[in-house]
Amino acid sequence: MSSTAITDSPAPWLRDNCPCGACRDPRNGQKLFQITDLPAGLSVGSVREVSGAAGTAAGAGWEVVWEPDGHRSLYPADWLDAHAPGGPRGTGGDGRTEADKELWAAADLAGRLPGASWDAYIGDRSVRIQALESVRRLGFALLRDVPRRDRMVLDVAATFGFVRRTNYGELFEVRVEPDPNNLAFTGALITPHTDNPYRDPVPTVQLLHCLRNEARGGDSGLVDGFHAAALLRREDPRAFDVLTRVPVEFTFTDARTELRAQRPLIDVDPLGRIREIRFNNRSIGTLHESAPVLEEFYAAYRRFGELLLRPELRLDFRLTPGDCLIFDNTRLLHARTAFAESGARHLQGAYADLDGLGSALAVLRRDGAAA
Ligand SMILES: [Zn+2]
Repeated sequence: MSSTAITDSPAPWLRDNCPCGACRDPRNGQKLFQITDLPAGLSVGSVREVSGAAGTAAGAGWEVVWEPDGHRSLYPADWLDAHAPGGPRGTGGDGRTEADKELWAAADLAGRLPGASWDAYIGDRSVRIQALESVRRLGFALLRDVPRRDRMVLDVAATFGFVRRTNYGELFEVRVEPDPNNLAFTGALITPHTDNPYRDPVPTVQLLHCLRNEARGGDSGLVDGFHAAALLRREDPRAFDVLTRVPVEFTFTDARTELRAQRPLIDVDPLGRIREIRFNNRSIGTLHESAPVLEEFYAAYRRFGELLLRPELRLDFRLTPGDCLIFDNTRLLHARTAFAESGARHLQGAYADLDGLGSALAVLRRDGAAA
């Protein structure tokens, strides 16, 4: 490492990252100044290498004296290695985009559903890390032998985050209801979809805990929406582009609720990487666009819909009592086959969020490294 890492760095960026106690509260690392507090015309006055404690790299770095205010900053060498402009993190994402995922088709997961038994998940930190990492990387994990207790799904959610309560309640019952406000609460076939696209923000994690499944039919299916969107981009880039640009109105209405949200079917990050899928034929509303945009949108929507129905993309399995599926509702589409309404099928579902799951995972790893 030479001083060029310092001199090649834009001055405001480098100064904004000063780690000194006047710039960041040593108790919590939070920044103590505003961008507008930095002097105008900021520049590096002088740079000098500082060696570490005898025989080690600890404390080694570069000291900068700033013009015009004479502030001193000490940048650790390993911090500069990790963060200097153009370095290894240059294209890093936030963990949510396709860049940080393993995209899959059904055959890729044949015989290796990611998951764990409940006892191992609760008792073994490394198993829990692996299961939560599966939700991040593959979009889901299946916990087996979760106690078949009423409201247990809430306890599962609490192992990695906070329950997101909605108009469906703290949890929702997926079973045949006499006067359903949602087709999910009937025996009907449900095609691949994401949940609650009419909510903004959308619940980013969904849990489904199977309490009974004795009905004929009622098998589950998952489709990797990121994989499908990546295929669309390859096969029909124009259609992909249209679906990232046209805002789609989603709505949900019942006696006590009136929800609406406007988002594209495929949401991309500022670098164009796939980041969120919303797809739900039951709650898509009326689009208000010019006729040519509507023509293009409907052709692209149909194309994406056909792609999502390709059998090779869909992972089929049957939830058995005690199974709890945890999945990324911004990426995976879930489906189920029709079932006989006379048979007993009862799932309890809940929503939570990916940021909480990511935090739980990071803390488990951090505490594991410290142990
Ligand atoms: Zn400082």
